Amino acid sequence: MHHTCARCGQQAETDDLPITWMTSVENGRRLAYCDRCARDNVRSIEGKLDSAWW
Ligand SMILES: [Zn+2]
Repeated sequence: MHHTCARCGQQAETDDLPITWMTSVENGRRLAYCDRCARDNVRSIEGKLDSAWW
């Protein structure tokens, strides 16, 4: 089974999701993010929280 990054489309050709990858459930779908996008995603989530805060 291939895992495809929901953000950049990078593929991990492994059965198990690499430990550096991150999954998140958005709108009921399970999405996978590669290590780089996971970091960017965390930052954008924090950014959203920041803009909601302000
Ligand atoms: Zn990615």
